[in-house]
Amino acid sequence: MLPFKLIYSDDYYLPIGAHVFPAEKYKRIHDRLLKTGIAEQSDFASPLPASDQDVLLVHTPQYVHKLRTGTLSAREELEMEVPYSPELVRAFWLSAGGSILAADHALKDHVAINVGGGFHHAFPDHGEGFCMINDIAIAIRRMQHDNKITRAMTVDCDVHQGNGTAVIFAGAGIPSGPLPSRAGFELASPDPARVRKAHAGDVFTISLHQENNYPAWKPPSSIDVDLPDEIGDDDYLHWLDNALSSGLRRFDPELISYVAGADPYREDQLGGLSLTIEGLKRRDELVFQAAKARNIPVMVTFAGGYARVVDDTVTIHCNTVMAAKEIFGG
Ligand SMILES: [Zn+2]
Repeated sequence: MLPFKLIYSDDYYLPIGAHVFPAEKYKRIHDRLLKTGIAEQSDFASPLPASDQDVLLVHTPQYVHKLRTGTLSAREELEMEVPYSPELVRAFWLSAGGSILAADHALKDHVAINVGGGFHHAFPDHGEGFCMINDIAIAIRRMQHDNKITRAMTVDCDVHQGNGTAVIFAGAGIPSGPLPSRAGFELASPDPARVRKAHAGDVFTISLHQENNYPAWKPPSSIDVDLPDEIGDDDYLHWLDNALSSGLRRFDPELISYVAGADPYREDQLGGLSLTIEGLKRRDELVFQAAKARNIPVMVTFAGGYARVVDDTVTIHCNTVMAAKEIFGG
């Protein structure tokens, strides 16, 4: 039995038809975790859907009303890049409930993993890039609302920048100088502009992502690391280590929300980085170790993953559970 909970429901399945987003990945991860003995049935907890009140902690009443009544404009639906349906609304509300439950369990057990969620491209008033509502932000705001935490940090390692999350948690936001560089480490094309910083309020946002990729407009996170194309394991891990150390020197969160996207993988169809499956597991370990060393609870969401072979995406996500198991014992 794992010393932490995996949050999952068969109803995480996104009814979006034939799509680059492998909607069946959640069930495949669940089944693989059981089949390989990484987890057993009792390690899974089922979420309830988020309430509209929870969703309204982050999203505008107008937007929630449009989603609830099916009155998005054609343009708004196009921008979301997934076909609207009431069933899809239910799936996203359930994923957000899963992230809330993961946050709750993380505060008790040091770590918890939502086998879903990570919809970081959803803004307060609209959805984008396969994301309808921002479960990451909803979970954090709910924990704050319940007075369980005051300060949180997001560590977004999806290959795409966490634009919605950055806007939701934007602070006073004046970009300043580059991060202190790590001794002996140089990127192939060092450019101080690649690393942008801004002040944040009660939620400190870190995003490591490919610069030449969606979204074109990258609103400032507290720390953005704009990575060049084709970066490999070692360079990526150095940048992650650097960003985590810098962020945790400047900010003292009571909860880390780790967005463990599988799409920095070198075989990803929507990504242009060159991480290996092993490198992605080392990435997970690095985040978990940083959280554990400082005794900060960490909740995980899975976000994107569009490997040419869906099985690879499933492996990468299962490895995140493995990494948590190795670092947090059990
Ligand atoms: Zn992504």
